[in-house]
Amino acid sequence: MKVEFYKHNLDQQEIESVTSVLQSTFLTTGPQTAKFEESFATYLGTKRCIGVNSWTMGNFITLKALGIGEGDEVITTPMTFIATPNTILQTGAKPVFVDVEAETGNIDCDKIEDAITERTKAILPIHMYGQLCDMKCLNDIAKKHGLLVVEDAAHAVESERDGIKPGQLSDAAVFSFYATKNLTCGEGGAIVTNNEKLAEDLKLYRLHGMSKSAADRYHGTFQHWDMELLGYKCNMNDIQAAMLNSQLTRLDELNKRRNEIAERYEAAFADMPGVDFPKKLGGSHHARHLFTIWVDPTKRDDILVALQQRQIGVAVNFRALHLLKYYREEHGYERGMFPQAERIGDSTITLPLYPKLTEEEIDYVIDCARDVVTSSPQVSLHATG
Ligand SMILES: *Cc1c(COP(=O)(O)O)cnc(C)c1O
Repeated sequence: MKVEFYKHNLDQQEIESVTSVLQSTFLTTGPQTAKFEESFATYLGTKRCIGVNSWTMGNFITLKALGIGEGDEVITTPMTFIATPNTILQTGAKPVFVDVEAETGNIDCDKIEDAITERTKAILPIHMYGQLCDMKCLNDIAKKHGLLVVEDAAHAVESERDGIKPGQLSDAAVFSFYATKNLTCGEGGAIVTNNEKLAEDLKLYRLHGMSKSAADRYHGTFQHWDMELLGYKCNMNDIQAAMLNSQLTRLDELNKRRNEIAERYEAAFADMPGVDFPKKLGGSHHARHLFTIWVDPTKRDDILVALQQRQIGVAVNFRALHLLKYYREEHGYERGMFPQAERIGDSTITLPLYPKLTEEEIDYVIDCARDVVTSSPQVSLHATG
């Protein structure tokens, strides 16, 4: 048996909605994008949504539009994808890491205040694997110190905690529609916010600061556009938006299936020796983007390879970023600074989790994991950094 790491869930509905865009006049940011922005804002219960071409560019222009740059510090964690701290650096600001909670991998609220300096401008929490951070606590700290909050909601389209969704208790939340995300159009992203001024600025920042988009210019009599500010080029197009619009109607149904699979894994691994996994908290509706297990860090890489040899697609989300060459050499980070992020980064393995997984495939993954973890792995790797 072969179990892919990921299979997308696009079907005939998406093929038809993309086809109808291809048969229309408008390919770039137009009616489909406008429809998606309205539906997605409604889905999340926020005032506005701005479609972009990736999380990375969406987060970058959000930080720029909020005035973050040279000399500023942004607090985040080293347990995330490199896009998170990289976009902070790209604005000229400095990412300041704090450690994560042992049980969830989310930012540890108790550690934030120690990292605040007079240069701190914002907190950038990551909703790990699809479980929301404690947004009430984050919001309280931000209010107390006059800081902005921008959420990395790349894993968190369907997430909710204590009745709060991404974008509701922050300045903005940024989403990814990358190929393996729960909601996908291959490459894409969006920003949601309750701040109307920020939303208008983001529309400028995503398109060179132009006062009128192609869609504005397409309708009515000819109008000149002006350049309001130095923007970038990262608008969502209508082909991407058509794919997203059609999936939005199935999102909750697909999330239900993701949850069933994750609960099968949790039941199987709960009393399996040598295997642990992040905890789902009470009051938390989990987006179930990724299912990860934690194994003995000295055996993790052997176990990864052994699972691959049994034709199971695996990944590592994520190694602690402060230990990557660039962050060690350019920013002086070293091992020992963030023990929980390091423990997770050294022991984690991501297993297949997507609605198309069959019962047989789930059983096979569980059986192989048990086998591989309890028996001594066959292969031996040199220890990696
Ligand atoms: C996927 C991901 C991103 C980057 O998303 P892109 O759309 O590829 O730019 C950022 N943060 C996290 C946590 C992610 O998983």
